[in-house]
Amino acid sequence: MTSRNRPFVVGLTGGIGSGKSAAAARFAALGAALVDTDQIAHQLTAPHGAAIDALRAEFGDEVIAADGALDRAAMRALAFSDPAARQRLEAILHPLIRAESDAQIGAAHAAPYLVLVVPLLFESGTYRARCDRIAVVDIPEALQIERVVRRSGLSAEQVASIMAAQATREQRRSIADDLIDNSGDLAALHTQVDALDCRYRAQGSSVARHS
Ligand code: ADP
Repeated sequence: MTSRNRPFVVGLTGGIGSGKSAAAARFAALGAALVDTDQIAHQLTAPHGAAIDALRAEFGDEVIAADGALDRAAMRALAFSDPAARQRLEAILHPLIRAESDAQIGAAHAAPYLVLVVPLLFESGTYRARCDRIAVVDIPEALQIERVVRRSGLSAEQVASIMAAQATREQRRSIADDLIDNSGDLAALHTQVDALDCRYRAQGSSVARHS
């Protein structure tokens, strides 16, 4: 076995609806360890989640639902109308998300490699610094809107306004070591992920030999 204390980390990013979850699921099915920062954020704000007490202390009972979870609609309304509230929310959540993802990365040291899913990877220097390689799931904006509308029932205008708040397609592409083109069907996505899986396994084991 190897003596490394962290796995080879592939940062996986892409805009909303680009297919990050679909790509991540394929990597995981092939045996990669998976750490998903969105999933961690959900767990932190679920009933009895580690962020709930701090959120209640900061924003009051009105942002906590009856089941003890974060009331996402109430919190979103507050954060949307008040940028300072949004900053206070991020000041509570972001360090907890980072700590939990670091703990999960550390616990996965025996995996062939690890996929770290970070929707806002372009915007976040701290996560980029944790990545040995960055894979970007890429699709044209029109297809992105079409898939999110179909998945969520949001209007095309609502999806476009979410996209406007994210990095642009070109910005994301500029940080990619590997581009995953998800404009085809799921089989085409899987073929690309399978090829990357082979490369990441090789890179992961060569990092292990040299560390
Ligand atoms: P993200 O995690 O980046 O937001 P998802 O993986 O959830 O994106 O994909 C967005 C939507 O598009 C989902 O409903 C998913 O099932 C669908 N989807 C993803 N990839 C494809 C594909 N290649 N062909 C058709 N639908 C896809």
